[in-house]
Amino acid sequence: MMNLTRLEISGFKSFAKKTTFDFDSSVVAIVGPNGSGKSNVAEAIRFVLGEQSMKSMRGKRGEDMIWNGSQQVPRMSRAAVALTFDNRSKFLDVDFDEVVLERVVHRDGTNEYKLNNSTVRLKDIVELLARANIGQTGHHIISQGEADKILAATARDRKEMLEDALGLKVFQYKKEESVRKLDKTQENMRQVEALRREVQPHVRFLKRQVDKLQKAEELRVEAMQRYQTYFAHETHYVSESKVAFEKEKAEIQKKLEGITQKIREARTVLSENADSKHSKEIVALSEELDRLREKRVQKAQDVARVSGQLDALSQTKEEHQVPQSALERVIEKHESGFMASGSLEQLQTLVRGLVADLRNLLTATKNDDSRIGELEREQKTLKAEEGALVQEEEQARKKLDTLRTELDNARTEERDQERALFTLTTDEKELRHQLELIGSKLETVSADEIELKRELGEVAVLVGRAAVDFGKPSASPKERKDQLEEKRELQKIKIRLEEMGAAGGEDVMKEYQEVTEREEYLEKELNDLRQSATSLQQLISELEEELNTRFKEGIKAINAEFSRFFGLMFDGGSAQLVLVKETARRVRSLEDEDDNGVPDDMEKIVEGIELSLSIPRKRIKSLVMLSGGERALTSIALIFAMSSVNPPPFLVLDETDAALDEANSRRYGEMITALSEKSQLALITHNRETMSRAGILYGVTMGNDGVSKVLSVKLEEAVAVAK
Ligand code: ATP
Repeated sequence: MMNLTRLEISGFKSFAKKTTFDFDSSVVAIVGPNGSGKSNVAEAIRFVLGEQSMKSMRGKRGEDMIWNGSQQVPRMSRAAVALTFDNRSKFLDVDFDEVVLERVVHRDGTNEYKLNNSTVRLKDIVELLARANIGQTGHHIISQGEADKILAATARDRKEMLEDALGLKVFQYKKEESVRKLDKTQENMRQVEALRREVQPHVRFLKRQVDKLQKAEELRVEAMQRYQTYFAHETHYVSESKVAFEKEKAEIQKKLEGITQKIREARTVLSENADSKHSKEIVALSEELDRLREKRVQKAQDVARVSGQLDALSQTKEEHQVPQSALERVIEKHESGFMASGSLEQLQTLVRGLVADLRNLLTATKNDDSRIGELEREQKTLKAEEGALVQEEEQARKKLDTLRTELDNARTEERDQERALFTLTTDEKELRHQLELIGSKLETVSADEIELKRELGEVAVLVGRAAVDFGKPSASPKERKDQLEEKRELQKIKIRLEEMGAAGGEDVMKEYQEVTEREEYLEKELNDLRQSATSLQQLISELEEELNTRFKEGIKAINAEFSRFFGLMFDGGSAQLVLVKETARRVRSLEDEDDNGVPDDMEKIVEGIELSLSIPRKRIKSLVMLSGGERALTSIALIFAMSSVNPPPFLVLDETDAALDEANSRRYGEMITALSEKSQLALITHNRETMSRAGILYGVTMGNDGVSKVLSVKLEEAVAVAK
């Protein structure tokens, strides 16, 4: 197997001058005396493959890799190593048939890496090589004295070497890359979430604004529709009411005029007072009647007196006597005078008086007859007069009765008229009241009309022109009470609309839309990130699974080979790799790095590989009980087992065979021949048997100038040079 074709070293360590090794064989041996620079060749290969540990190249700094000068040859400013691969098989995953890797280190410690002369990053080289099973743990380059490196390593490091040897690094890189991506994704998620958290309150705030605006808009639309109906009714109401009220007013006024006229007439009639005229007449007539009655009574008395006188006279005449009554009157007349008289003269006078009266009495009787005739005539006259008076009185009474009846009639008529007037004035009052009422109704309607105009203007501005664009006034009847209720409600809505304030709505809507879009974008972004995180997690666990399976299968395969090589080397016995578990804390106390973010106080189970050996005729408990040669044999068996299970493109073995006795040197040589079928081998050796297995032998020498030189040699020469 030929993968390496050439190695060019210039300025690297003892190779001051440009030196070329052509690897034209699957087994190349490098021979030469001690200190000639053979190991520097192996280190040059390490170096060009990107080795970072200066210690593993026996240096402290990059500068130590550069030719340091000798008396004859001045020191160099840079060390360069170029390794050429035959990549026709494309074992290196680049599209070149030949790949030249080059590394240059300068005195200031800076490094350059090149792939076919193009500058690349170390990382690129490391990954490219890892995929070609040329891992960083260097199981394929065994430095001088490091044959038992794998035995000396910790279980955990040993496991890593085995992973590397099994070509699992590729999966590990993939896994690490996925973990990095996952970390990055999670970091992005946190950032996006932070952004979302920033945006969300703003979204909520704007949502509230938008809700308000939408409510306002809904309210505005409602107001618009209701106002249209309202205005249609109101306009109709105002115009119709005006006409109706005016008509009603005219009717009332007309009625009122009629009634006023009637009242006037009624008053005129009543003012011509019938009562007073009749009354005067009646009073006059009554007085006349009284007078007549008095006269008639007087007459009757006169008649009675004359009749009395006549009766008296008739009686006296019959008896011829002085009537007793006349005598009694005389006695009465004088009696008291006599009783009171004191003197004689008084008495004489009295007697004289008495005598005279008595004489008179006598004389009267004598005149009676003539007197009777006289009285009878007088009585006749008086009776006639009385009769006339009775008649007169009767007539007056009749007239008075007539007058009284007339008066009564007049009074009744007047009362009727008064009643009619009362009714009229009541009606008039009622009509005036109605007129007042209709007046105030008209005033109200005018006020309503003004209010309507004002409302139309106001609503057009606040609710929009559509609200006042109600079309035809509505003729469908509506209760005024309901309309006023509607007005009140609309007013409330109007106030709410004013409070809501529709200004700036468009800006808010726009901003809301933008912010929502941003939020949605972030949400989508987050979902995408979540999805890729999930698929990364899945990939990681798949890779872990793959690693696990491949590792276990690989260990199984290596164990089979290991046991075989081991048995071969030790002439029996057996060797096995055993997977062990250790706690991270213990491991951490020995090592420092790579805790994978596990907190210090948490125990993490890590896996490692231990060796379980059984050497014929010996009871080996621990690796430390092995001799140097046994250690080398075990190590070689393991290295060869690893290489045969997953052959690396090449192996560099620097005096791995140093400790072998003759028998084992032969077995070693056989193994090398077997391995060379799958891997190219560069062997630094002093061992003749090993040399004999090589297709090409290079001799390295060092002159007095301290510069290593290389020459192709024959086996015999090589054997000689090596000694
Ligand atoms: P051995 O057979 O004993 O193992 P070797 O052939 O492997 O020896 P190396 O170890 O490769 O020899 O070479 C070591 C020599 O390289 C030393 O003599 C040292 O002087 C020389 N050397 C190492 N580094 C430099 C350097 N930077 N400049 C010049 N010479 C160097």
